[in-house]
Amino acid sequence: MTIQASPSDQLIFAPVGIAHLTADNADLVRAAAAGRSRIRVTTAAQLNGVPHLGTVVTMLTVFAFTRHAADALGRPANIIFDALENAPAEQITIDGDTYTRNVGDLIDTGQLERAERTSGFERLLAWASDKSGIPYEYRPYAVYQSLRPVRECLHIIASRQDDFAPIVAPRDGIIRIRPRCPECRLMQKSAADLTITALSGAVRLGNRCPRHGRYAETVHIDGGGWYDANTPVRSIQKGYLLAAERDIYDACSVSVDGADWSGSWHANVLAPALAELGIPPREWPVSVFTPLITDHTGGKLSKTLYVARGTYADLPEAFLNLDILLARRSDQVLDAIWAEVTRWAAEPRRLHRGYAVGYISSLLGQELSAGQLRTA
Ligand SMILES: [Zn+2]
Repeated sequence: MTIQASPSDQLIFAPVGIAHLTADNADLVRAAAAGRSRIRVTTAAQLNGVPHLGTVVTMLTVFAFTRHAADALGRPANIIFDALENAPAEQITIDGDTYTRNVGDLIDTGQLERAERTSGFERLLAWASDKSGIPYEYRPYAVYQSLRPVRECLHIIASRQDDFAPIVAPRDGIIRIRPRCPECRLMQKSAADLTITALSGAVRLGNRCPRHGRYAETVHIDGGGWYDANTPVRSIQKGYLLAAERDIYDACSVSVDGADWSGSWHANVLAPALAELGIPPREWPVSVFTPLITDHTGGKLSKTLYVARGTYADLPEAFLNLDILLARRSDQVLDAIWAEVTRWAAEPRRLHRGYAVGYISSLLGQELSAGQLRTA
């Protein structure tokens, strides 16, 4: 009998700190889950196109980790997927100033097809949910930004701009909580004309449209209105929301995100902001980070760079386009990734590291050759 060799057998595990501290990844959640009736895992992605391989690997790892934590800690679990339709989709320069419209704006005007932006993610979520038995909720940004704890946090930041500006805008001190023109939805990228005023129970956002002049949006804590929060503000609001949700849902709140949000981001943005917000550490959400998928130089595998420069011309196009993967060998490819990420989900030494795209490629070797995915 021959035993099929797995690329995973060739891995070398250099010792890393957190892997010494934990014997199983569920150890990271154990204390925060004590006394709580469920585990609630949140993750997010910008709807800026079809998910590429790095996103697929991250999403499947989120489901695998949630399954593992639920089993290891004996609690039901669910996943909240924050679908960020506020990702920029169009950029216009007027009088030397840059303005944007987001994915949701262009879907509303019919310039983008909703299905084109969401179907890849929805298919992936449905597959992962079915495979893991973990239910999920798809939450658009329009819903997220109006949640009461998210608005409470917005109000705190607006009321204490001097405290938060060095954290969320260390370069220019401009906190980017931006309204959009009610007439044409243009949003000023620089936020040079932005005004943020905390009122009683609301935040008033003012800006100027190059076509329609000055406008203002009043965002009440109780709901109504819309604003765009840029990444650091949104990240801090999410930390505040997840802390609040421990009581709202009697849940252990966990955020599982790509490695971009670990290290310097966590240390310099999220952690100081949670401290400024006065949230006791025992109520902080548990933060878990999925492995970074890197190119041959050690940089993050980037679809944008691939398309713009042909940087990864040696890789099959399928690596960056889930539609091609799914159209030709979907279950086989996803099953191969699932088999790998379920090991990451349990073992600290496999979770707390990065993987080169060549390693992922070797995992998918049979599927890739069977599907004849390499393009001419
Ligand atoms: Zn306008």
